[in-house]
Amino acid sequence: MKLIALSLIAVAGFAQTPEYTLLIKGGHLIDPKNGISAVRDVAINDGKIAEVAANIPASKAGKVIEARGLYVTPGLVDMHVHVYAGTGQRGAYSGDLSVYPDGFTFRSGVTTVADAGSSGWRNFPDFKDRVIDRAKTRVLAFLNIVGQGMGGGAIEQNTEDMDPKAAADQAMKYPGVVIGVKTAHYAGPEWIAVDHAVEAATAANIPVMVDFGVFRPERPYQELVLKHLRPGDISTHMYLDAVPMIDDDGKVLPYLFEARKRGVIFDVGHGAGSFLFRQAVPAVKQGWIPDSISTDLHVSSMNAGMKDMLNVMSKFLNLGESMDQVIAQSTWHPAREIHVEPLGTLTVGAPADIAVLRLDKGKFGFVDTYGARLNGTQKLDCELTVKDGLVVYDENGISRENWDKLGSRYKAQGSNDWDGTINSTVRERK
Ligand SMILES: [Zn+2]
Repeated sequence: MKLIALSLIAVAGFAQTPEYTLLIKGGHLIDPKNGISAVRDVAINDGKIAEVAANIPASKAGKVIEARGLYVTPGLVDMHVHVYAGTGQRGAYSGDLSVYPDGFTFRSGVTTVADAGSSGWRNFPDFKDRVIDRAKTRVLAFLNIVGQGMGGGAIEQNTEDMDPKAAADQAMKYPGVVIGVKTAHYAGPEWIAVDHAVEAATAANIPVMVDFGVFRPERPYQELVLKHLRPGDISTHMYLDAVPMIDDDGKVLPYLFEARKRGVIFDVGHGAGSFLFRQAVPAVKQGWIPDSISTDLHVSSMNAGMKDMLNVMSKFLNLGESMDQVIAQSTWHPAREIHVEPLGTLTVGAPADIAVLRLDKGKFGFVDTYGARLNGTQKLDCELTVKDGLVVYDENGISRENWDKLGSRYKAQGSNDWDGTINSTVRERK
């Protein structure tokens, strides 16, 4: 009798294969694309967002993670990083100044990055093979208009190597991976770097991102954003010292709002030299806020004032932006700017990239790229990151069972359906 009852239960259990592999319950979900900022559950199946609703029964999922008191957002999209590491090239972003992405992304809730021009059309295949195809992070790229990319020094000043046709052809070979064209660090007096980047990007139908390099009177920044860039093109390093921004009366210069009205995008690109509180504090107060927040992650920014995506986002919270604004600027806005929708959203059917964030209240300090501090009262931290439906980072083990509940001989926990943190070869040995 007992045996029969057990086998009936087994059959019933088998018949009810859970509809969802993973369910994140009870968090405050922010999905700017879909206009949601409320307590919602989100269910995942087959690596995709399967359902977003006020109450999804726990019984429908193979794995449930409790997120009460936390924010649940799309996986963060950091569209200005330097991750062309490992080439051995000294003193160059196409080498030693870059970092490998996986060590910096998931622990900050970032699931997608765009490398901002570390490679050009000549060395993009090497970058793809060396980093993009091997990273767990989703890595996209702006191609540098310089064929050799960010090789440093004279390489980046070589106008002979700024070939719009070769750049456009390479970009079109990798649609959805090459998502833009970059110009950076140019010091000459001509517009050639910007204009060739725009020409390449027009041919490939993708945006340009501009780091204006050395600001020179022969090519004023105002003309860049009012004339040379097209609607949808991106000016990064928006709070850089050299950007004319605040007049003698402390007012944001009107040309900036005019440029935004034209459709030019303004991106943070914090980095090691491009974010000053004396620009950002008065600017944000007057509504000169970022379209997108990005880090400009590289070896010189990672341990200085920039640190990571959540630290840069926290700066804007402490400057007075709302959580909904900051999340939009770090998810849906950058995804839209680089045309990788539906990334940056929790739309049903989108890749299940999710960040579960904690907002800590207390006494915090934030540092800009000249080394000035801003005192703050709130700071974001990453509890959990999901990429393509798998948990890839779990700071406090909120997806795990307590060790003393698992018996004296427990083996590798989790399941390949949802868990990307326990090495699957370890789990298979159980
Ligand atoms: Zn950069």
